[in-house]
Amino acid sequence: MAKQIQAIRGMNDILPTQSPLWQKLETVLRETVASYGYSEIRTPIVESTDLFKRSIGEVTDIVEKEMYTFEDRNGDYLTLRPEGTASTVRAGNEHGLLYNQEQRLWYMGPMFRHERPQKGRYRQFHQFGVEIYGIPSADMDAEVLMMSARLWQKLGITDHVTLELNTLGDPQERSVYRDALIAFLEQHQDVLDEDAKRRMYTNPLRVLDTKNAEIQAVLVDAPALDDYLGEETKAHFAHLCELLDAVGIQYKINPRLVRGLDYYNRTVFEWVTDSLGAQGTVLAGGRYDGLVGQLGGKDTPAVGFAMGLERIVLMLETLSLTDDVKGPVDVYVTAMGDACKVEAIKIAQSLRDALPTLKVMSHCGGGNFKKQMKRADKSGAQVALVIGENELANNQVALKYLREDKEQQLVARDALATHLAELI
Ligand code: ATP
Ligand code: MG
Repeated sequence: MAKQIQAIRGMNDILPTQSPLWQKLETVLRETVASYGYSEIRTPIVESTDLFKRSIGEVTDIVEKEMYTFEDRNGDYLTLRPEGTASTVRAGNEHGLLYNQEQRLWYMGPMFRHERPQKGRYRQFHQFGVEIYGIPSADMDAEVLMMSARLWQKLGITDHVTLELNTLGDPQERSVYRDALIAFLEQHQDVLDEDAKRRMYTNPLRVLDTKNAEIQAVLVDAPALDDYLGEETKAHFAHLCELLDAVGIQYKINPRLVRGLDYYNRTVFEWVTDSLGAQGTVLAGGRYDGLVGQLGGKDTPAVGFAMGLERIVLMLETLSLTDDVKGPVDVYVTAMGDACKVEAIKIAQSLRDALPTLKVMSHCGGGNFKKQMKRADKSGAQVALVIGENELANNQVALKYLREDKEQQLVARDALATHLAELI
C-alpha cells in the first residue's frame, strides 16, 4: 500500500466533530465585536519578512527563531504571518486608514510560528484580535479590556481567568531605565544564563520575564521601571485602573509583565488561566503608539490584543462547557419507498424555506426503514421525519423523536414547519 502523507507537525486538522465548538466560539467573537461597532479587516497570510523584523523586533523569540520564512521564485524573502498587528498596520498605512482617523478593527485567522509543539502551543494556530487606531486615551485601553471580560462572560469562563496589567512607560522613559537595568545585570553576570547574557544589551527588559529561578532571585533587587516613569505615563495607567475599578474588572498589577514583542509602550496586559498548565496566557496585548510611525506612517496612537483560539477551545473542553454546542443536523428526512422520494425532497426544501436556520438533512440512497433510521441516528438529529405512502395519502408526516423517550407523532404537512420551530 502507498505510504500515507501526514500533516505537518504542530499543524492540526479541525475535524467535523470539533468544528461545531470552533463555530460557537467564532460566533461569540463576531457578535461581541459587532456589539462594539468594530469592523473586520482581512490581510494576506504571507507578507515581506522585513515587515515582521521591523515591527516585532530583531531580538525577540518570534523573529530570532519562530518565523516561517522562505525565498519565493522571485528571490524575495517572505514570511507566513506570526501575528496580526504588523499586517494590520501595514494595510492601514497602505490604504490611508490610520492618519487623523479613528479605526476600531478586528481580525481572525491562522498564524504560524516554528515552536516546539505541545498542549496549547502549535505551529499553525489561530488568533482573534482587535486593533484600535487614533485614540490615545486610556478609555480605549479600558474598552478593549471590558470587551475581553465580556467575552469570558459569554463563554462562561469568567471564574477561570485573571487579568495581569503593567505599564512599560514611553520609549524615552524606558531607555533611561534600560541603562540602569543593564548596569545592574552587568554586576550579576555570574548568575545569568545564555539567553539572558545574549539579551542583556539588546533587549534587557526581556530578561525580567526569565523562567530561570536563580536569575529571578537576583532580579528581586533590580531597579524597578515604575521609578522611571513620568507623570503622564503614570496618569494614563492610573486612569485605566480607575475605569477598570469603576466597572468591576479585577486585575493584578504585575511589574514583571513585559511581553515578547518590542512595539508595546505604556499599557500591557495578559489574561491568564490556571486550567491549561504551562500555556496559561489566553489573551495578550497593549498599547503600541510608536508602531505606525515605525512602519512608515504618520504617528498614530494604537492599542490592541490577540487571543489564542486553540487555548480557549481547550479551556471550554477541559471545563466541560461544550454541552450546548449543537451538531450539524436538527432534522433528518427519510423516504420510505421510491414513490415518496420526490415528496420527501419537497418537504425538506419547504422546511428550509420556512425555517432558514433549521438544519435539515435529506436521506440519500434509499434502503429500508432500519437502515434509514440508523443514518438518522448517526446524523445527530433531534428528530427524523418519516415520509411513507400512507402519510402522504393523508397529507401527513410521521415525526420520530431520536433523543427523547417520546411516542412517534403524526403531523399535518402544512403544520410541520410551525411544529418544528417550537420543537427545535
Ligand atoms: P507565549 O508566551 O505563550 O509564547 P506569546 O507572548 O508568544 O505567548 P502573543 O504573541 O502575545 O503570545 O500571542 C497572543 C496569544 O496567542 C497568546 O496569548 C496565546 O494565547 C496565543 N499563542 C501564541 N503563540 C501560540 C502558539 N504557538 N500556539 C497556540 N497559541 C499561541
Ligand atoms: Mg511565544
